[in-house]
Amino acid sequence: MVADQSFSSLAEALQGLEIPVSISDSLALIEVPYVSFEGYEQKGQLVIHQNLAEEVTALFQELYKQWFPIYKMVPLVAYGWDDVASMADNNTSAFNYRHIIATDLLSNHALGRAIDINPLQNPYYARNGKVYPAGAVHDPTVPGTLHKDSSAVTLFKEKGWTWLGDRDTYKDYQHFEKL
Ligand SMILES: [Zn+2]
Repeated sequence: MVADQSFSSLAEALQGLEIPVSISDSLALIEVPYVSFEGYEQKGQLVIHQNLAEEVTALFQELYKQWFPIYKMVPLVAYGWDDVASMADNNTSAFNYRHIIATDLLSNHALGRAIDINPLQNPYYARNGKVYPAGAVHDPTVPGTLHKDSSAVTLFKEKGWTWLGDRDTYKDYQHFEKL
């Protein structure tokens, strides 16, 4: 588990990563409010495509108003860019320069155009039969869970985001993306 950490600049939040300048130049570090599972007001940080920064800030402000709880929100650099470790820590995040798990396709997270919310409540049931994070269970009655009738899902969809909890061939309940 990683302690809550905050970063003072985008460069700091991208440390240790070798990525094309075209990618790093397109990103922004944003700070958004959220409510913790214990009901406390918190601030979290996301690295996101700069064209989505304003919209994503507004979306998380709305989730906060709706009192949708978020476990934690720390940029992936705090996990040494290890998505599995971040998911196991139930961390909400956006940018990570990585492939889609078990494929050689670059994920939309690598463009800063995808967000994963509360992975432990919203697991990824991959095509290879594995569940990420390991042992996670999707139970729509648990707060912080995304499901087809949740207002959080409606909120993102209204802004043109795709939710991968809707897929037929696999379910990635934690994942929203907008290209
Ligand atoms: Zn994702």
